[in-house]
Amino acid sequence: MKECTLYKKENNKVRCLACAHKCLISDNKTGICGVRKNFKGKLYLLVYGKIVAENIDSIEKKPLYHFLPGTYAYSIGTVGCNFRCSWCQNFDISQASKQGKIFGHDISPEQIIEKALKAGCKSIAYTYNEPAIFIEFVKDTAELARKKGLKNILITNGYLSKENFEYIGDLIDAMNIDFKSFSDSVYKKYCGASLKPVLDSIKRAHEKDIHIELTTLIIPGINDSDEELEQMAKFISKIDKNIPWHISRFFPMYKMLNRSPTQISTLKKAEKIGKKYLKYVHLGNV
Ligand code: SF4
Ligand code: SF4
Repeated sequence: MKECTLYKKENNKVRCLACAHKCLISDNKTGICGVRKNFKGKLYLLVYGKIVAENIDSIEKKPLYHFLPGTYAYSIGTVGCNFRCSWCQNFDISQASKQGKIFGHDISPEQIIEKALKAGCKSIAYTYNEPAIFIEFVKDTAELARKKGLKNILITNGYLSKENFEYIGDLIDAMNIDFKSFSDSVYKKYCGASLKPVLDSIKRAHEKDIHIELTTLIIPGINDSDEELEQMAKFISKIDKNIPWHISRFFPMYKMLNRSPTQISTLKKAEKIGKKYLKYVHLGNV
């Protein structure tokens, strides 16, 4: 546990500035993510140095296909998330902190870098859950990584606040941003979030010259209409038609066990729409 940097005091509460929720947190309470807690007027990161997963992953698994291809990323994550997606593959870790469950094993930024170098990795990936919520731990690790010649990668739902971008942006080399839908109501109903901050993050990352790739999990009946896919592809192309778009297949998961897997024909349709506007469209989970 460590005191957070990204927050401010507001009357007798604290306002977290790490993500676009900007939670106003009373004493002895946490924000939506469950990992940032107000103790007597100071905000603390409960998962600082407490990771729940660490793996040596191929960079293509992140997925990043156009950044350091053929290399490995030392991948770490903690419990907690600022979203509650009904299809979350990692719900056992992403939603745990909302029930007050904070777990994981202790590790320092120095130990992560040492392990990554020993394994021959070329980068550190902050992944599995949402890194914006444990960003102070990301920053301490990313600074050391950079000194040792390792790249830093965020695998994110894109809900970072503007303040968070200013805080971490210069240390980040690549991002894969989940672009879940072009509908605000889908973000609200299924993720407990909204669309605009995600669009803002994609633009900010591009303006900062961070390498970005986007991922969309195509879920039958939720985001698979021609119209929505067209809107998403157009939006990306207006920023940069060279941004790779990963279109991924849905399988029943978490609260969506009754929904069918995405038909291959739907993925092919999405790929065709994407290729009208974008140079790189990749199918995943097929
Ligand atoms: S990271 Fe986001 S969800 Fe968590 S406390 Fe801060 S503003 Fe709230
Ligand atoms: S943003 Fe990712 S980790 Fe968080 S709930 Fe959604 S799918 Fe799970």
